[in-house]
Amino acid sequence: MNILDLCFPRNCPVCGGPSDREGRFVCSGCLDRLVMVPPDDGTAAALEFDGIARRLILDFKLRSRLYLKADLADFLEGAAIARYDVARVDAIVPMPLTLLHRFLRGYNQSRLLARELARRLGRTCLEGALKRKGSPRRQSGLDRKARLKNAIGTFSVPERAIPRVRSRTILLVDDIHTTGATLAAAAEALKSAGAREVWPLALARRGL
Ligand SMILES: [Zn+2]
Repeated sequence: MNILDLCFPRNCPVCGGPSDREGRFVCSGCLDRLVMVPPDDGTAAALEFDGIARRLILDFKLRSRLYLKADLADFLEGAAIARYDVARVDAIVPMPLTLLHRFLRGYNQSRLLARELARRLGRTCLEGALKRKGSPRRQSGLDRKARLKNAIGTFSVPERAIPRVRSRTILLVDDIHTTGATLAAAAEALKSAGAREVWPLALARRGL
């Protein structure tokens, strides 16, 4: 326990009990109850968006509990290491929010997590590497094929970012994904701009 813990005791946001992990909020008991996605599952997500994970992510995304950043970044970091040869990653790119979402929430949670992951892996976070070309139609109510079609073509790499993307291996970071269609569309835009490889990574996956 460090001096900050004595001054500001940390409580687990899930069970309310004292946190027993240094520098983290989620206690080890609640951590054990989280459902992780197996790395060989073929999906880029770290967690199932369910139960405890759902609550933590919504606290972070919608209720501005930004202090959960380190706890959530642990899952992204673990998933990145379990799935990819992270030594080959040149840069981290966060998924951009739509302008409307940015306006409503005031910050971009994927960007905060991407920045933290980049810091831990000792890589640059290329924040302006992807832009949304306006708002796509709502994804809900569309089947997988329609989602993919809807999502493709909504991302672009600005001219000035192209030299930083070209020939690079990029870890593309999102918070929650459903079908992976949006991540795939963003990855396609980075590849069209010359990225060597784009590896998708999401904090959680939500069922359709
Ligand atoms: Zn707990």
